[in-house]
This record gives sequence, structure tokens and C-alpha cells, in this order.
Amino acid sequence: MRVAVLRLGHRPERDKRITTHVGLVARAFGADEMLLAGRDDKLVAGLEDVAERWGGDFHVRSVSSWKREARHWKESGGRIAHLTMYGTPLSESIEEIRRSEAVMVVVGAEKVPPEIYEMADWNLGVGNQPHSEVAALAIFLDRLWEGEELEREFEGKIEIVPSPRFKTVIERRGEDEV
Ligand code: SAM
Repeated sequence: MRVAVLRLGHRPERDKRITTHVGLVARAFGADEMLLAGRDDKLVAGLEDVAERWGGDFHVRSVSSWKREARHWKESGGRIAHLTMYGTPLSESIEEIRRSEAVMVVVGAEKVPPEIYEMADWNLGVGNQPHSEVAALAIFLDRLWEGEELEREFEGKIEIVPSPRFKTVIERRGEDEV
């Protein structure tokens, strides 16, 4: 299944850290890409740099029209899951979502445009208390993959060797590096 995360409402002056965390969670928990509604070149470059060093095939891009992206996604057979505290329980729809070929997971910042509620195939609450797009995304992806995403190998230039007590890190050099 192809999974893209659409981050709406990013305000470069306020949301750098949280949007970066949305991207890090998306990558670490098995999404293929993040689409950032709006422009923040530095943030995009930072996430691409993490992906380059830590492995996997994750990409980030800024999109000027999230509606065009969402429409195109649906026209190509993809489905849209919008995470919102107003939505229906995730547990009621997750099996149906797992049967999709491609899912765009939408998370907001402060307020999301009302059209997303119409475009979404599912408006899903990860519980119905206000919390965070980072937490909502992490739980969504973990339920989607049923925990298997945590076992995935990324084959990056940097890799951690799990240890009960020490920080053990392997760093591999590329062929062009001496
Ligand atoms: N009014 C927002 C809403 O509709 O959920 C809360 C704003 S919250 C600061 C930012 C984002 O976190 C939301 O757009 C949503 O994607 C996510 N979020 C927060 N609480 C959530 C919950 N209980 N279930 C699903 N998503 C949630």
C-alpha cells in the first residue's frame, strides 16, 4: 500500500518543529512521502537530509495546491483519511482502510479548511479529545501496519545497534567518500 501524509496549515514562523516531527513520524512509521501544503524549503531539505542519511525511500515536497493533489490522488484510485478529533473512531474503519491501495493521511495545524471533510473518505478521530497531529499520525500508522513498521530495516548510512545500555551507532561511507 502506498501511503502519503498531507500536512495542512503549516505556518513557517510557528510550526517548524511540529511539522518536522510530522515528517519524521511519517518516515519512521512507514509512509512513503509527505506533502507539505505551502512552502518551507529549509524544512523540506532537513527532512530529505534525514531520509538520505538514515535510509529508506521517503520523500517530501511542497505543494502549492493541496486540493489539486487530493483531487488527483482520488482520481488515481487513492483514498483519503483525515485525522480530526471530530471524526468517527479509527477502530471502526481501520480494516477497510487496510484494504486500500493508496491512502493519503491528512493532518492539520490549528484549523483545517472545511472542504477536507467533504473530500475525505474517512474523517477519523484518534479518540475524541484534542491532542496533537504528531500523536494522531503515529497511532494511525501503527494501527494501519499493526506494529510491523517498527521492525522495518531502513539500510541507511547511519544505523543504530539496539543496546540496553550504550549508544551504538554504525556509520557507513558512500563509495564516493574516502
Ligand atoms: N480542531 C482540530 C481537529 O479537528 O482535530 C484540533 C487541532 S490540533 C492542534 C491539530 C491537528 O491534530 C488536527 O488537525 C488533527 O489532524 C490532529 N488531531 C488532534 N487531535 C486529534 C484527535 N483526537 N484525533 C485525530 N486527530 C487529531
